[in-house]
Amino acid sequence: MPTVPIGLERLVEKARAGLRLDGAEALELYRSAPTAILGALADGIRLRKHPDGLVTYIIDRNVNYTNICVAKCNFCAFYRPVGSPDGYVLGFDELFRKIDETIAVGGVQLLLQGGHNPDLPLSWYEDLFRAVKERYPSFKLHALSPPEVIHLSRLSQLPVPAVIERLIAAGLDSIPGGGAEILVDRVRKLLHCYGKATADEWLDVMRHAHRAGLRTTATMMYGTVETDAERIEHMLRLRDLQDETGGFTAFITWSYQPDHTELSGTEATGIDYLRTLAIARIVLDNFDNLQASWVTQGGKVGQLSLAYGANDMGSVMIEENVVRAAGASYCMDELEIVRNIEDAGFAARRRNMHYEVLGEPVFRERDVPRMLELATAREAGDTHVPDELRFYPARSRAGKAARP
Ligand code: SF4
Repeated sequence: MPTVPIGLERLVEKARAGLRLDGAEALELYRSAPTAILGALADGIRLRKHPDGLVTYIIDRNVNYTNICVAKCNFCAFYRPVGSPDGYVLGFDELFRKIDETIAVGGVQLLLQGGHNPDLPLSWYEDLFRAVKERYPSFKLHALSPPEVIHLSRLSQLPVPAVIERLIAAGLDSIPGGGAEILVDRVRKLLHCYGKATADEWLDVMRHAHRAGLRTTATMMYGTVETDAERIEHMLRLRDLQDETGGFTAFITWSYQPDHTELSGTEATGIDYLRTLAIARIVLDNFDNLQASWVTQGGKVGQLSLAYGANDMGSVMIEENVVRAAGASYCMDELEIVRNIEDAGFAARRRNMHYEVLGEPVFRERDVPRMLELATAREAGDTHVPDELRFYPARSRAGKAARP
């Protein structure tokens, strides 16, 4: 452990002993501790929780089923308004093809998220999930972040628990923690995402999901307009809910990507990322797993995350649309992820959504083609409208016109 600055000894000792920090203590450590000390504390906690020397990753595909969105968050470069010529909805056959490709490289799930499209009713999601489960019974659906669930609750005029129940009955396996941004309403109002979900509403979806037996992840997007204290407040709100339900499998944080967004600005630095990851490992003492966000930070900082509290390299991903729209396009296939894990001194293992180890890297068992670029939702210029959409009532004027 590097030399501890005078005045911080008590806090550093408390964190090193694994005792819970309150908000003021966490903030003081976050603001004042040298980066090397934050890293050493976080790495010590990671080692206590994962003494086996393993770092995990999952092979899945990050698919965005539609980019049409009425929420219009000002930090988002991905969405297109209703009626935009660039708007798309993927067809069931396109999604099946993506699943086939995912299974071919050893993938076990889809991370399926999209815009708040007023022309996709709840029945579209139910039919899609049922169709996926019929074709691929053991393939998992990690789908629909809390704001999407709230959007469906509003569209269908059903309470959130009823929407979750219906989605589970159709095949939903787990809810990703997207759309959390910063769980402080002052920040959410400034980011124009208060309307899609308040902090309480986001947490309440997760509470209901956990009560319904789903495990979910939790996320934090930092680096927009929030203060350090609000980052800590976000973590404390997640920690409280985890105390209550124990339903979160993992925490993932990443920095805001400003290119092509209405909010604009500059991206947080690598040191800011590593310090934020480390303080999250210290504060979130009831979370087992922290992912490295190589997709926003790049492979090298992603690898360094393993010394700052992360025990998981996230996803091989195969496809990515949202972060790419905001200017970052890093790609790591399984071979590259494993190379980074092993070079950092760990053994690499594939896992499932519950962080259960599935086995050794697939490429060591059989030939898998190299993937040097992440796929996109669709080829540029492909504007076709899926056939099955005519079976679902549209609500927007543009949607109705496209679906006579
Ligand atoms: S972040 Fe999600 S909800 Fe917000 S505008 Fe983008 S797609 Fe829509």
